[in-house]
Amino acid sequence: MHVLLATSELNPYSKTGGLADMVSALARALAGTGLRVSVVTPLYRGMVDSNSSIEPTSWRWAIPMGDSLVEGRFHCYKPSPNLTLWFVKQAGFFDRPGLYGEAGRDYADNSARFIFLSRAALILARHLPDPPKVLHCHDWQTGLIPILASHARLQTGWALPPRTVFTIHNLAFQGSFPASSWGLSGLPADWLHIESALHFNRVNFLKAGLTQSQAITTVSPTYAQEILTAEYGCGLEGLLLKRYNDLGGILNGVDYEEWNSASDPALPAAFSAQDLSGKAVCKSALQREMGLPENPSIPLFANISRLTEQKGSALIIQTIGSLIAAGESLQFVQLGSGEPTLENAFRDLAQRFPDQVAARIGFDPGLSHRIEAGADFYLMPSRFEPCGLGQMIALRYGSVPIVRATGGLNDTVREGYDGNGFRFHPYDVRHFIDAMGRALEVYRDRESWALLRARGMREDNSWEHAAEQYGGVYDWAVRLARR
Ligand code: ADP
Repeated sequence: MHVLLATSELNPYSKTGGLADMVSALARALAGTGLRVSVVTPLYRGMVDSNSSIEPTSWRWAIPMGDSLVEGRFHCYKPSPNLTLWFVKQAGFFDRPGLYGEAGRDYADNSARFIFLSRAALILARHLPDPPKVLHCHDWQTGLIPILASHARLQTGWALPPRTVFTIHNLAFQGSFPASSWGLSGLPADWLHIESALHFNRVNFLKAGLTQSQAITTVSPTYAQEILTAEYGCGLEGLLLKRYNDLGGILNGVDYEEWNSASDPALPAAFSAQDLSGKAVCKSALQREMGLPENPSIPLFANISRLTEQKGSALIIQTIGSLIAAGESLQFVQLGSGEPTLENAFRDLAQRFPDQVAARIGFDPGLSHRIEAGADFYLMPSRFEPCGLGQMIALRYGSVPIVRATGGLNDTVREGYDGNGFRFHPYDVRHFIDAMGRALEVYRDRESWALLRARGMREDNSWEHAAEQYGGVYDWAVRLARR
């Protein structure tokens, strides 16, 4: 079977978060199971310069959008015999400093940009010599693909367009635009209604994906259940309930080639579950790099994330602040960027407690590896978390996760006799502090600490298992398709 994955970001070419990691790792894992896999994604600024293997093809086309005809061209790279990456070149849309916006503001023409990507995906699917049987769409940016595929079948005589699978990485981002943007899709005006993409008089790209795809997945079993409730459903829970039988949760894996503490070039020393001496070197090096006093025995907490309400950044600031103010001996390291008030709050915390808190505001993949390796504890008190990668990487790197039991955090972190970390549920400082207290107690008991850390490092959240499950969903979409 040939599968085409459509995504707005792809590691290592373009990345703002876990979506990029997920699609790139899934594509390789699927190809490893013997499927033929293609990926279609935008050619953003600088990608050709920094990746000489991405080559232009002679495949050019044009799409009528509103009053204009927008030209596009595919670039291509084939990293392995059954994996091909297709990059959509459209300089006006994608040759920009940001993926989705600049200086904290979304680009005003994001609807046009991602309609273009979606329509390019259909062109590719239709004209490849070996047409894909399944088109696997990721997040709102590719949400119109399923309806574009239905339209192609019913109105343009394409007898067998691919079946579509839609994966929700984050229900909070829906791609909601004025109804007038529908015109850019080339779809008939009467195809926009509340059973398709219309949501409160706007075009909602995510809703289009959820109503029109053959199967829906999300990135953890717990999140698949949570999004059926008003608390997590972001207004789409009713629609998701209707599609209950077509919805499943498949936990993302970790790319253990990139995240291998025994061979990670970003680390000052290698280590493994069998020999943790290198981890102590990583801890001192991290303390030095972040300007904190070097102290092997002080517990070092860390967090790496987008700074947003979702990730519980405010809870971290309050909790670390109160523990230090209460005289607790600990260090904390933050890497992240996001909402300016949260960025400033982390800077303030570091200024107030310079010997205990260090904050690096920005996006720094190398430092993220060194933090995962150098920390003792990894904090993820997310309000919601579709899957979460940080905690799974932390487990592998011997940093014990302390998480809020939601979404993928609930599926990957256990507390108790067979635990690999610490959990709390009510989203408040008191319960977070309690969990940190339990964690510190175990930290001080060296034998229990060693056992806990070793259990986490042995955990297997690899992609092979997830790829097998996606293979099952593709088979199901092809065989049991409703439309
Ligand atoms: P999300 O996709 O919701 O942002 P995930 O936990 O699924 O969250 O994935 C985020 C990924 O991006 C992790 O690998 C994390 O380490 C990385 N990341 C987040 N912020 C930064 C940053 N400022 N610098 C480097 N890596 C980061």
